[in-house]
Amino acid sequence: MITVISNLFSLYAYRLIGSSFNVINRRINNTITDEVFKQELLLNSSLVIGAALISGFFTFLMRQTIINVSRKIEFDIKNDIYAHYQKLSLSFYKRNRTGDLMNRITEDVSKVRMYVGPAVMYTINTLTLFTVILTYMFSTAPKLAAYTILPLPILSFIIYKLSKSINLKSTLVQEQLSKLSTFTQETFSGISLIKSYGLEKKKYNDFDLLSNSTKEKKIDLAKIQSLFIPSMILLIGLSNLIVIYVGGLSYINGDIKEIGIIAEFILYVNKLTWPVATVGWVTSIVQQAAASQKRINEFLCEEPEVKNINNGLKNILGDIEFRNVSFTYPDTGIEALKNVSFKIKEGEKLLIVGKIGSGKTTILELLARLYDPTEGEILLNNIPLRNYNLNTLRESIGFVPQDSFLFSDTIGNNIKFGNRNANHEMVIESAKKSFVHHDIDNFKTKYDSMLGERGINLSGGQKQRISIARALIKSPKLLLFDDCLSAVDTETEKEILDNITKDKERKTIVIVSHRVSSGSRTDQIIVLDKGEIIEKGNHVELIKKSGVYHTLIDLQNNTK
Ligand code: ADP
Repeated sequence: MITVISNLFSLYAYRLIGSSFNVINRRINNTITDEVFKQELLLNSSLVIGAALISGFFTFLMRQTIINVSRKIEFDIKNDIYAHYQKLSLSFYKRNRTGDLMNRITEDVSKVRMYVGPAVMYTINTLTLFTVILTYMFSTAPKLAAYTILPLPILSFIIYKLSKSINLKSTLVQEQLSKLSTFTQETFSGISLIKSYGLEKKKYNDFDLLSNSTKEKKIDLAKIQSLFIPSMILLIGLSNLIVIYVGGLSYINGDIKEIGIIAEFILYVNKLTWPVATVGWVTSIVQQAAASQKRINEFLCEEPEVKNINNGLKNILGDIEFRNVSFTYPDTGIEALKNVSFKIKEGEKLLIVGKIGSGKTTILELLARLYDPTEGEILLNNIPLRNYNLNTLRESIGFVPQDSFLFSDTIGNNIKFGNRNANHEMVIESAKKSFVHHDIDNFKTKYDSMLGERGINLSGGQKQRISIARALIKSPKLLLFDDCLSAVDTETEKEILDNITKDKERKTIVIVSHRVSSGSRTDQIIVLDKGEIIEKGNHVELIKKSGVYHTLIDLQNNTK
């Protein structure tokens, strides 16, 4: 409606301009007096200004409304995708590249926004303008009208072709830019490695190659883009020429009665040019939006493999049992666990040892339900883990992964990540328990010290202990340590474990480790090999057995 009003007023202004030409003509032919001529011109000019103001106001309203709505839609789509991404299981993230996930939530969404916003707006605009202008033109001077609009379909076709080619080339530029930023990001993240291997020159050459190819793709794009405006100007010029030539002849022949019609037609042609060009442009936007929407839907239709039961059990207490659990990674088809069975009593400490790749981490991932077992069942308090509410389960678990990821934030906030409501005392307490308080206290800005990307200014051991503090601040019922004490010495490892077990709340703790130093402080030990349990028992039992565990203990004692 707003579009229609805005267009009607702007067209009214054109009619007034046309009629002003007629007034001038009448004055030249002396059919009106000077007085009437001046009055009519003044009236027309004031009306033109009035109509332009009203039309401008409604155009403003139209753009404001449509663009606002499209921004709101964009906001909703982004939030929906983000929320959905977070629901998806770990295997989804293993299957898809981070860059791709980011692109779909940014680039693809903005392409869809272009469709719901500008494309819709220009379509309505074009339709109303066409209907009104063509009806008027054909009713006043059909022959002239037919000649005038002749170049317009050609214009539309050229713009369509150019837009398509521009889109194609800009996609290539986008891809190239993604490559360039991934390269730069990796270089800066791994800068210490690059420097220590003296790879600066090689990396510089790689960067040079990449940016050179980016430059070429951008120049390619610029060449096509520079054709856009000249082709429009050329075809508008052609239309104007036709109007003047055919219009002039028609006026001389008497086919059209008033000279003002020619002026009006010139204005109409110019007014129609942009909508005609947008037909081509909008077509390509619609095509792109459809492709992007398809890409967005692909991910939105992904179902999380690990399903949550909203009204699932919330009482995360009791003994844990693995009953004939086997697990094959869905993406690689690697069978990581074979028929694994064991029990952990509530409050007990279990140590899992084994060679790299024996399936230790997989056990922890299954416990946190990052994956569900392919066969067999994990039970908590004799009830399948799947029957528990997934969010409550995860809230009750303190998972310290092998790779201690720290956010680019302060140390305090990194610890608080485990429990957003924690106060500073709680932060200090958990840092003390994980034996890192002393280190943090020595930093100039202590807990407010900012960490660079991935905590570049901390040692491996400090990062590990901060990750442990982050898990401890949650006061979890179940603590999962994935080889997270590898970078601390055995003495500190002992202190940390003692601190945790001294806790009033009895926690069940599962420690995955490649070393056996904490074996004597745990209640149960499992030795894994190629996804199978090869030894099970407590420290004393396994020492007596003289098996793998015994050998590992001997090895460790000999290297001390
Ligand atoms: P460990 O913790 O004992 O080193 P893991 O549990 O990490 O062993 O791995 C067990 C096996 O599963 C290995 O063969 C490993 O290559 C494979 N694996 C681990 N994680 C994945 C994954 N995300 N996708 C596919 N295979 C995996």
